[in-house]
Amino acid sequence: MGACLALLWSCGSKNQEAAKVTFAQDVHSYARPAEARSTHLELDLKVDFEKKVLSGTATHTIAGAKEIVFDTKGLKIAKTEAAGEDRQFRETKFQLGAVDKILGAPLAVTLPEGAKYVRVTYETSPDAIALQWLAPELTAGKKAPYLFTQGQPIYTRTWIPIQDSPGIRITYRAKIQTQPNFFAVMSATNDQKTMVPTGKYEFDMQQAIPPYLMALAVGELQFRPVGGRTGVYTEKPVLDAAAKEFVDLEDMVKAAEKLYGAYRWERYDVLICPPGFPIGGMENPRLTFATPTIIAGDRSLVSLISHELAHSWSGNLVTNATWSDFWLNEGFTVYVERRIQEELYGKQRSEMEFAVEIAELKEEMAKLPAKDQMLYVDLKGRDPEEGVTLVPYIKGALMLRALEEEVGRERWDAFVRGYFDKFAFQSITTAQFEEELKAKFPELKLNVKEWIYQPGLPASTPKIDSYLLSQVDAQLAKFQKGEAMETKEWVAQQWLHFLRGLPESLTAAQMAKLDATYKFTQSGNSEILDAWLVLAIRHKYAAADAALDKFLSSVGRQKFLKPLYTELAKTPDGKARAKAFYAKYKGNYHPIAAGAIGGIVGD
Ligand SMILES: [Zn+2]
Repeated sequence: MGACLALLWSCGSKNQEAAKVTFAQDVHSYARPAEARSTHLELDLKVDFEKKVLSGTATHTIAGAKEIVFDTKGLKIAKTEAAGEDRQFRETKFQLGAVDKILGAPLAVTLPEGAKYVRVTYETSPDAIALQWLAPELTAGKKAPYLFTQGQPIYTRTWIPIQDSPGIRITYRAKIQTQPNFFAVMSATNDQKTMVPTGKYEFDMQQAIPPYLMALAVGELQFRPVGGRTGVYTEKPVLDAAAKEFVDLEDMVKAAEKLYGAYRWERYDVLICPPGFPIGGMENPRLTFATPTIIAGDRSLVSLISHELAHSWSGNLVTNATWSDFWLNEGFTVYVERRIQEELYGKQRSEMEFAVEIAELKEEMAKLPAKDQMLYVDLKGRDPEEGVTLVPYIKGALMLRALEEEVGRERWDAFVRGYFDKFAFQSITTAQFEEELKAKFPELKLNVKEWIYQPGLPASTPKIDSYLLSQVDAQLAKFQKGEAMETKEWVAQQWLHFLRGLPESLTAAQMAKLDATYKFTQSGNSEILDAWLVLAIRHKYAAADAALDKFLSSVGRQKFLKPLYTELAKTPDGKARAKAFYAKYKGNYHPIAAGAIGGIVGD
């Protein structure tokens, strides 16, 4: 219905392994996997904090012949070599194509007869977007620098020459050489002991993953177990608080397993990154990377971790074949996240969190062009980041909820579990999902095509009522009339709903009164503080200025930065302040966040 479905073609290679796999056409990769593809990667890299580069070799095991094309962006290629089964490497020709602003440059390597391996010797650029190099003062410990990567959606090519398409899965091994007293971790098997004196670490990832899940972090890290197969890595000053916040980690894994079958990645650990981490969390397999802003002291924001854990099924196990199919990762994950929350904390909390998200979706959708309100988004010629809106997340989850309501929870749960089993360790397209749904529920009434290929929210959108939020609405009505409010035992999401529901006519004097009673400016909950600071800018509540300055200097999460800078930029005075903040603090932000904020302040 209007949108084109991804073309599929079969792999023509004689190689047995490759012959079983089909690849969706990915407009964000130069790779031609049907001709030659990588099945396994061996990385051998040195981390240089001074020059801010990674250098070494990437050795790919190849299926296919004649020529293999990798994605690269900003990489300095020194040489390429090829070898047969005997691993006797000899130099082979390569060609680096023209640079595209979004995609980078294709690296085509000639494969001699019988080539089984290709080795690329290279160095990253200091401004590689996947790599954030933090100076010591931007870490929790303040003594040592820190490095972490962010690969999704197409940034892995800025630190590894790789076929950077989510449809091309690989296993990997890695050797990482860093300085003594540094601890390196990856999205692979990790050594839980503390630092190795030589600074040399080895990793192994035996499950095939899409390239965007390649991940590395290096810093003064420590590890603390919180359950039999769960634990936290972070810097020492944060370790106690993090371990306390995540006591439910093991129960979360069990709740997810009860619903969707065995956890297939052995360990589930969380790395709490420094405050500059640009996003909430990244579901790197075995080792979720997360922002420290979810440590609220009362476990009120741990739903983010159940989201990242849910990706162990939706996203990491069954992966979107292209970035247009991103909703398969995120819609399923938000749906699964809601179900885990329901298992652990009850239906009231889960429905409340869903209701808050749906309100946010409606607000965002009102500003989006029609083409971006569909689950399957046409991203041809566009940066895949443009597809990262609440639509794939929340509209996706709403469609799955509508399906659950039509077929009944029992049958729906069996379907989802079967879907994860059938497509485990595969990357699939929206069309494949539709086929599977049709095969299992031929009598289905829900107009799935309308959800996937039409803008807006269909009439079949489920109604999510939240008793806890209606309580807040009642108190907001009292506030409007100047009456005393009853806010006892409110949880963070209720406070957020309260702040977002305050009238436009709010005055700085009213804000001062609210602040005196509820201490918003001092809130340790980053979500509440962020919402409050937006109001402080809007209603010129100067008493929060120091808190705003501190927040903008120390938090790098785009979700929080964007609304603050956007609010500032609405007035000429505010825009000047925004520019000054940005000039002062952009060095603290991740390149991804800095780029987005630069756009807002007009830098
Ligand atoms: Zn997600």
